[in-house]
Parts: sequence; structure tokens; C-alpha cells
Amino acid sequence: MAITEKITNTTKPTFWEGEIPVNYVYTYGLAGEKFFRAVKDKGTFLATYCAECDVSYVPPKIYCDRCFAELDKYIDVGTTGFIESFTVSFKNMDGGDKDVPRILAMIRVDGTDGGLIHYIEGIDPEDICIGMPVEAVFKPKAKRIGSIDDIIGFGPIRSKGRK
Ligand SMILES: [Zn+2]
Repeated sequence: MAITEKITNTTKPTFWEGEIPVNYVYTYGLAGEKFFRAVKDKGTFLATYCAECDVSYVPPKIYCDRCFAELDKYIDVGTTGFIESFTVSFKNMDGGDKDVPRILAMIRVDGTDGGLIHYIEGIDPEDICIGMPVEAVFKPKAKRIGSIDDIIGFGPIRSKGRK
């Protein structure tokens, strides 16, 4: 394959097999650091809010996607939400069967326009449904490092009242 190649048939692109070593350092950025610091230290979620657009972002963003306003006010939005979408995974990354199916879901955080994709814990696949209220389950505070993995998953609501 040449370095540049003109593709004339888009249904049969050529490809090259090989390996490219890629090293990177992922940084959370300003809003991500505040978000994960709140997860680690307080076991809660933060959002940013654009009053002009009446949109709240979870995870928080430093600029509004719609009007590009700078967003520098962080709001504690709690840890409850509802299942907006989900899928049940029966296969491992290697294609083998999982011992126990895992549920991945898009969780819309209550009172916000944002949410997180994470595991569902403590709900059987046959009992799950769109709109089901859920709550984040965190690792014990001493084991949190400021990562998405500080959240074990989302499960049935345990706390009193919903925010
Ligand atoms: Zn805006």
C-alpha cells in the first residue's frame, strides 16, 4: 500500500495489518477533575448548568455545547437517576460466554440533561426496564481514587427520597 492511495471503490477499502505503539496520558480536564474529585471525596456527582439554554451537563463541561458560554458554576446533583437505555452482555471480550450476564446502561441523572454509561448491579436482566429509577453504588471512600471505577455501578434506589 502506498502512503497515499486513492480509493475508487468505497465498499472495498484496502487495509494494512500491523501494530502501532501508542502511548498517551489521559487527563480529565478542568471539569473532569472537579467531577471525579466529588466522586472520590463526597460520593456525589457534579453538573454545570447553562441558564441561557436551560441545559445541565453531567459529566460537567466548561463550555455550553449550544451557546458556547463559559460554565463555571458546579452543582451537586446527587447520585440518583433512571435507566434511559440498556443492553445485556452475555459475551466476554474474547467472545467466550460470561458466567453471569452484565448489564450496561445509560443513566440519566435526575434533574439534569446528562448522565453516565455504567454497569447495573443488583437488578436481574429480566427485571430491568427503561425508566427504572437507580442510584449510584460507590466503592468505600478509602478505596476511591478519583476514577469512573470508583462507581461500582447503579442499582435500586436505597436512599430516602429522590432529588
Ligand atoms: Zn448555553
